[in-house]
This record gives sequence, structure tokens and C-alpha cells, in this order.
Amino acid sequence: MRNKELHRQAMHRYITSEKGRHTRRIYCRKTRQEYRNKVIKLLGERCVKCGFNDIRILQIDHINGCGTKERKAMSSLTYYKKILEEIQQGSKKYQILCPNCNWLKRIEKMEYF
Ligand SMILES: [Zn+2]
Repeated sequence: MRNKELHRQAMHRYITSEKGRHTRRIYCRKTRQEYRNKVIKLLGERCVKCGFNDIRILQIDHINGCGTKERKAMSSLTYYKKILEEIQQGSKKYQILCPNCNWLKRIEKMEYF
């Protein structure tokens, strides 16, 4: 019992320490990137409008809008994980757009923020 408590305290000290936070940040970034890459791969790795295919700047777009609202409701890691799961289950809610086509779509549909 006492051991368990000591362990808990040590864990807490670690995760709130500079090193622990740093490790967690790196882990989150890496995992987020993996989810993002998987999503982009599943969606065809190119902009559906113009065919642009530089994976570094391609964006995942909600076909029917309201992505910003949904995205702000959770961490970006959870957000990408959710999208990946939805796509794996056959969701057709998402598409890949390059930043140019994404902006054009926003302007045309008045989806500013
Ligand atoms: Zn495009």
C-alpha cells in the first residue's frame, strides 16, 4: 500500500517535471503525425481538386464543413485518431485538399471560422 503511494508520487513528479513533459510532447507529436499520415494515405494522398500531392502540406477537410468547431473541442491527437477510426469504418465525411483549394472552398462557402 505504502509502496503504491510512493510509486504514484514518483510518477506524478516525473510527469510534471520538465523531462517528463518534454517526453510527452514528443510522444504526442509523433503519434499525431502517424495518425495524420495514415489518414492522408487512406484518402488518396493528393488534393481531390487539383491533384497536388506534397504530403507535408496537404490538409484533411470536412466535406460538409464544421471542422473547426469539432477540432477545437478536443486535442489534435484525439482529433486525428477519431478521423482515422471513422475512415477505417468507411466514413465519407473527409477529403484531402491542398491549402490553396481549402482556402478557395472556405471563401466560396463563406466558412471563415
Ligand atoms: Zn488543390
